[in-house]
Amino acid sequence: MLKLIEAIFAGRIQTEDIDTVGSKQFRGELNCNTAQCDKCGECLQVCPVSAITINEYNRPIIDYKRCVFCGRCVDACAGCALYHSNLEALPEILTGSSVDVGRVTNIRPGRSLHVRHLDAGSCNACDFEMGALSNPLYDLHRFGVSFVASPRHADAVMVTGVVTRNLEKAVHMTYEAMEEPKVVIAVGACAAGGATYGETYAIVGALDKVLPVDIFVPGCPPRPSAMIVALLAAADLYLERSKSMGNK
Ligand code: SF4
Ligand code: SF4
Repeated sequence: MLKLIEAIFAGRIQTEDIDTVGSKQFRGELNCNTAQCDKCGECLQVCPVSAITINEYNRPIIDYKRCVFCGRCVDACAGCALYHSNLEALPEILTGSSVDVGRVTNIRPGRSLHVRHLDAGSCNACDFEMGALSNPLYDLHRFGVSFVASPRHADAVMVTGVVTRNLEKAVHMTYEAMEEPKVVIAVGACAAGGATYGETYAIVGALDKVLPVDIFVPGCPPRPSAMIVALLAAADLYLERSKSMGNK
């Protein structure tokens, strides 16, 4: 902290670089060293959100929309075949768009996005990380992205939390209030995968049960830098849709 303050007083820029590579100090994408895998299936048994399946080559496939990056599968792996890399499980662009998520952090003059945040039933950790987007370290505004108070002013909606029955109507109303074109982003394992709290009478499920989702941001909660990559992809997607509608 003292070093950060010193650097700020020395006049250096202290905002975090945003790229699609990830961070050195966190649990990122899961890799499997197949030579060491004895196919015991223990990883499937311990995963709390059923995010692992085994493909035809006996390799574990991770559903990053569901994964909460708890590391239980890595701990349970007797052969030490599974391990976390330090690469960000990047936001997945699932629409038929031509947006290249690997290139979205390139500077594009004139690109901007107005975003409405909607909590559909989160534990609030995703929302706290989203709040960090506006702090001096992440400084979201340098990318031309800002949050707005009304869906009528928004180009995109960022939804956190598994959709609860109490807020399902609010999700629909928010989406309906937005002008076309509009982009929907599901933030975190709850909104993206819907499995975090299991199935109960109070839960509808993942956001894509309710709305057409364009971008899924993995994590529980996702890091702010992953959200920024998702927002820049959303800005490009919004521009693409605007042009196809004949808007300038
Ligand atoms: S790290 Fe992901 S895939 Fe592994 S047990 Fe936890 S939720 Fe399941
Ligand atoms: S994804 Fe994780 S951090 Fe985000 S709302 Fe769900 S439980 Fe909380």
